[in-house]
Amino acid sequence: MRKKKEIREKILETNRVRKIAFAGLIIGVSLTFLGLTLFTPLFVVGFTMLVICTGAASFLTAVKWGYSKALKMEVEKKVVTHTKVCPRCTTQIREGLRYCPNCGKKIQAKKH
Ligand SMILES: [Zn+2]
Repeated sequence: MRKKKEIREKILETNRVRKIAFAGLIIGVSLTFLGLTLFTPLFVVGFTMLVICTGAASFLTAVKWGYSKALKMEVEKKVVTHTKVCPRCTTQIREGLRYCPNCGKKIQAKKH
C-alpha cells in the first residue's frame, strides 16, 4: 500500500517540523522572561517568537491529527474492501484474485 507509506512519511515530516516549533516556543519563553528582567528588546523578540511558534505548533498538531485520521481510514479501508481470507488455508488474499496464491483454491466471488 503506497498511500499508507506516504501518509506515514508525512506524519514523520510533520513531527520533525513540530519539534522545531516546540524548540522555538521554549526559546521564545526563555527570551521573554530574560527580556522582562534584563533587556526589553529581548522581550519583544522572545514574545514574537513565542506567538509565532505557538501558532505553528498548534497548526502542525492539527495537520498531524488529520494525517493520523487519514491513515486510520486507509488501514480500515484495506481490511474491509481489499482482502479476503482463503477458506482452505486462511491466507489473506487480495481482492480480485480468482485463485489462492498459497494453496491454489478457487476463490468464490464476494456475495453482496
Ligand atoms: Zn489457500
